[in-house]
Amino acid sequence: MDKELENDFYTWKKRGEEYYSPFSEKTVDTASPEEDDVNSRMYDFGERFFSDMMFEQDSIVGKCLECKSKDGNSDREVTDYIPIPELQSFSYDMIICKIKSLGKDYMACFDSKEMSLTISPNYTDRDYVILHEMIHIHEFLLSKINASYRDILFYELYKKVGNSINNINKLLDSWCNGVNQLGIQQKGGIHSPLFLLKSLDIDLQCGYKLGTTMGYSCSTEFEKVLNAQK
Ligand SMILES: [Zn+2]
Repeated sequence: MDKELENDFYTWKKRGEEYYSPFSEKTVDTASPEEDDVNSRMYDFGERFFSDMMFEQDSIVGKCLECKSKDGNSDREVTDYIPIPELQSFSYDMIICKIKSLGKDYMACFDSKEMSLTISPNYTDRDYVILHEMIHIHEFLLSKINASYRDILFYELYKKVGNSINNINKLLDSWCNGVNQLGIQQKGGIHSPLFLLKSLDIDLQCGYKLGTTMGYSCSTEFEKVLNAQK
């Protein structure tokens, strides 16, 4: 693993342990009970929805990290799973969760420089807000490893989501348009085609209206694009 990243992981881990310590005095530098709760929900969501972005063995991309070989003694074929070390080193307590007002139009934001997730007090009970930010977190982690894994995840998610959404290509065509990309970027930063697919995957799993996890009032727009005649 890259030395700099290894140091970052060490710093984030240590900082997180202090921030979430159940024994620390609750001060401005440590998590409040509500902030603890947001962090523990991330663990729950991680298990339920993000095994693919973590390249875990039982996920849709697990097979990409499998290595088949012959067992020397019995000549049987054995399968080994080789996890990605950078992703293995990550845990959600490295993310400092803060509940703080972000101004009227913002529900939450992930700051990759600070490794912090800030959520506005009015939105802490909305799972889809945390799930949206978690996609940003996992995309950030993927940006730290070999770029081909990102494409592998895109390809597998495309097949999975495409099985449930007939006109997925229409939505991707529209999402990949430069002007549309700029529009969403101005509203809330970069939301890649991979982000779109993962947000739709979560919508489908949670039974949300398509576009809910993406936010920015996308559900109406998505419905229009998906139902367009040509
Ligand atoms: Zn976003």
